[in-house]
Amino acid sequence: MISILDQNFSQLNEFLNELQPSQILILVDENTHEYCLPKLLGNLVTDVSFEIIEIEAGEALKTIETATHLWEIFAEFAADRKSVLLNVGGGVITDLGGFAASTYKRGISFINIPTTLLGMCDASIGGKTGIDHLFLKNIVGTFATPEKIFVFPDFLQTLPFAELRSGFAEMLKHGLIADEKHWNDLIALENLTPENIAPFLETSMLIKQNVVEKDFKEQNIRKTLNFGHTIGHAVESLFLQKGKPITHGEAVALGMICETHLSFLENLIREKTAIIIVNNILRFFPYLPITEFSTDEMITLMKNDKKNEAGNINFSLLVGIGECKFDCLVSARNITYALHYYQNLTA
Ligand code: NAD
Ligand code: ZN
Repeated sequence: MISILDQNFSQLNEFLNELQPSQILILVDENTHEYCLPKLLGNLVTDVSFEIIEIEAGEALKTIETATHLWEIFAEFAADRKSVLLNVGGGVITDLGGFAASTYKRGISFINIPTTLLGMCDASIGGKTGIDHLFLKNIVGTFATPEKIFVFPDFLQTLPFAELRSGFAEMLKHGLIADEKHWNDLIALENLTPENIAPFLETSMLIKQNVVEKDFKEQNIRKTLNFGHTIGHAVESLFLQKGKPITHGEAVALGMICETHLSFLENLIREKTAIIIVNNILRFFPYLPITEFSTDEMITLMKNDKKNEAGNINFSLLVGIGECKFDCLVSARNITYALHYYQNLTA
């Protein structure tokens, strides 16, 4: 198993001891430097020398310029195939660090240590690295697998609530597409706290890991992880364009509501099941006003999604709770109905 739930850093220490790297480079952002690095260094037991590389926090730094800066630092530290990079942070750090490591000298080793919930159950797993370019997210990247992924649930303690809830949307998605029990466990939670969520982390990590192992290059079943994301990405971009950014998880939750209704419109699930799903998502992710966005502009954005081919919009839709079908071609009329359904939820 490549991703490991490590409560007390013992497995990371054991692994580094076996790996015997020539040096350890640790990539952090300003927040993970402050909140996570002290915990990590306080528990790290190794004779190997280490250097810390800090970048500013945020998506804006996930660029080729920052990757270039990292390549220069790797060169300064004479990093080679025996060095290992520890990416300690959220999805920005694991995407960017993984990209820089996998391209430097045709690839040096890296280990992901995700510190956000989204990173723990999603971004750090699956071997996709990337940077943003020309206003396009993750447009340049590599498929590159970390040596290991170590997940320390304790890092969630300092994570802002909005970030915690954002990652929770991906966990709900995992339940809906692959594991009814996981979904039932999650919707039974009274409120979202690190303590409440931690017992279910490993199941989410495993669901993502299993799907990726079956279909690394996203030819078939990996597409099910896009459930909620076709509409979610479009809405996320529009909120950003209007200067009112929402979290990725809020966008995915909204997308999952619309795409659940779409699954019903496409006769894949019963209306009663769809309503149960929608009401439970709304408990954690209350309605967000999207009436100012026209359905045409949302559909245009969906058509431009890099996952589509030949102008068709490809959805992954539910065929039950815990079951998902990919490559569903859906009419623009039903997409419009699904968006109107969400817009009318306030009433
Ligand atoms: P992020 O890395 O920007 O982290 C969110 C914020 O939380 C940052 O300000 C960060 O500094 C802070 N933070 C991180 N850990 C903390 C902690 N323990 N305590 C306090 N603050 C902490 O964002 P994210 O949501 O983790 O990841 C989003 C990125 O992940 C996007 O760039 C997205 O494209 C990428 N992603 C990649 C994949 C993939 O398969 N490679 C999948 C999903 C998302
Ligand atoms: Zn996502």
